[in-house]
Order: sequence, then C-alpha cells, then structure tokens
Amino acid sequence: MSKPDDDDITWLVSMRADDASEISRDSVFTHSCSKCGKRVVLAPSGVRFQKENPDARIICNRCCASVIPDLRAPDVDLKFAASTPEELKEEASKTRPNPWKSRN
Ligand SMILES: [Zn+2]
Repeated sequence: MSKPDDDDITWLVSMRADDASEISRDSVFTHSCSKCGKRVVLAPSGVRFQKENPDARIICNRCCASVIPDLRAPDVDLKFAASTPEELKEEASKTRPNPWKSRN
C-alpha cells in the first residue's frame, strides 16, 4: 500500500473529547479523528469549516504532530476555523464544562 501524499490534505485540527475541560457552548461530539478514531469536539466554527471543506480531514490535537510536524514551516497554511477574531472570541467566551469528560 502506498502512503497517501499528506501535502495536499486540508486538516481540521480538533480537541480530543477526552482532553477538553471546557468547550464552546454549541460544540458537537459527532466527529472522530481520522488517524486514531477517537472522538473529537467541534466548535460551531469547526462544524461550518467541515461543511465548507468536505475534503478536510479531522485530526485530533494528539495526532496533529504526526501529520504536521512543524506548524511554523513556510508551506503550512495555518488558520483558525473561526473566520474572524470576533468569532473566535465569542466561542472562547461562551463555554460550558465538557459533558463528555464526566462520562469517563
Ligand atoms: Zn487522533
């Protein structure tokens, strides 16, 4: 089996559901990491990004380093799923305890 060319893939980095202590209020737990298969939490901006970029692959914060070794490399196009700083701020300010965490 040949290794897929990771260079052309858009990755949506998401927090593992087990790792997040606080989540944005309207976050969903409907997606999993494409590498380890663990449940991730997607904030509303992440859900929208995924809809707008159906080819994007979801990767958790722990597997991220294995596919994107250096986030500061010049060929890494890093951006937040939230389209504006205001949206990011909004999501960061409206948090609730992660209900997934108390299940374990
Ligand atoms: Zn993972």
